[in-house]
Amino acid sequence: MNLKFQQLVKLFQRLPGVGPRQAARFVIALLDQPEENLVELGTAINRLKKEISFCGECFNISDNSHCHICHDTKRDKAKLMVVEKVTDLESVEKTGLYKGLYHVLGGAINPLDKITPANLKIKELEKRLEKISAEQGVELIIATNPNTSGETTAMYLRDLFASTNWQNRGLSVTRLGRGLSSGSNLEYADEITLKHALEYRK
Ligand SMILES: [Zn+2]
Repeated sequence: MNLKFQQLVKLFQRLPGVGPRQAARFVIALLDQPEENLVELGTAINRLKKEISFCGECFNISDNSHCHICHDTKRDKAKLMVVEKVTDLESVEKTGLYKGLYHVLGGAINPLDKITPANLKIKELEKRLEKISAEQGVELIIATNPNTSGETTAMYLRDLFASTNWQNRGLSVTRLGRGLSSGSNLEYADEITLKHALEYRK
């Protein structure tokens, strides 16, 4: 097979959930596209890191220093949901059931992939929470995925914020509840499942 073709197939396989067959399908589909579409795609990928920035508060993808959720004065500031990725935030947003704020960690603790708490936005989360006062109070809703790395991260965060010092500051920690089967992914949970998980947090 053509070397350039194979090279592009390999590049697509770097994306999550893309196997060799799916990658080959992508490349064949691209070959069917007009030249200008390919240039458009190539340019967009080329500029991705330069042109897309993250919210300085919650690390959601944003065009500005603060994302539209952090900007929205109608959001409930007494609720802060911790998610692994922007795609998880989007899944929860799509349900329209959650009106609080978010904090995107940028992944989950996974020693096998050498992802430690220092690689995640945990220090930033602590800094955010340091600003809260006892009167105001904040519920920190841990919504990491119900798989090994997500559970490890959830336990780490629970331990981190378990001290009476944090409780006296008005922080309570909950975890997204039942409904999310273990090993599953928040990103792919359907609306009804997410609704239950939100209602039955513990
Ligand atoms: Zn934000």
